[in-house]
Amino acid sequence: MTHYDEPALVVLSGGQDSTTCLFWARRHFAAVHALSFTYGQKHVLEVELARALAAKAGATFEAMDLPLVGQLGRNALTDTSIAMDEAKPAGGPPNTFVPGRNLFFLSIAAVYARERGIRHLVTGVSQTDYSGYPDCRDNFVKSLNVTLNLAMEAQFVIHTPLMWLDKCQTWALTDELGVLDVVRRETLTCYNGIPGDGCGHCPACQLRREGLEKYLRLKGRQA
Ligand code: ZN
Repeated sequence: MTHYDEPALVVLSGGQDSTTCLFWARRHFAAVHALSFTYGQKHVLEVELARALAAKAGATFEAMDLPLVGQLGRNALTDTSIAMDEAKPAGGPPNTFVPGRNLFFLSIAAVYARERGIRHLVTGVSQTDYSGYPDCRDNFVKSLNVTLNLAMEAQFVIHTPLMWLDKCQTWALTDELGVLDVVRRETLTCYNGIPGDGCGHCPACQLRREGLEKYLRLKGRQA
């Protein structure tokens, strides 16, 4: 891929995907800025992990508080009275879906970037293993990119390096970037708030583990 002699802004949650994007951006851009959001999620530890990961990647870091995003719609990531769906229900997104989250985050990231003269935005969304979240799909991101450019008369480019990768391929990219262990040990993807390999049974842990096991098997076979 092209190396840009320009900075990029990574929307960083402290999870596996956005952290992989952070190190991907470090390889492809002249400078990297990381932006995290708190929105009333149960596991604010992820923001502290994001801060440490940004430092490790040599990126600047800022966290913004957007409680409104978690308050607008009822969901299991911000409402402690709702038990999380352990499996994806038929006919709709799981109750861990935070309506509008990526719409708000990417829109705010774009304004934030514009103020700093940055036009490249990087997000870790993936359509391949998208868990039923409509705002992780490619058509949403492309549509928003057009809308942001129209809204601010700008030339934003939203990069989605993981869009067509499954979890196994994402782990392969992490390894290629030389940060497999960092991403494995120092990120938080688990819905139950346990860093690293996590609780092992929530949907996020299952997806992550299956991808990792598949990748390690493939690598073992090749070696
Ligand atoms: Zn878990």
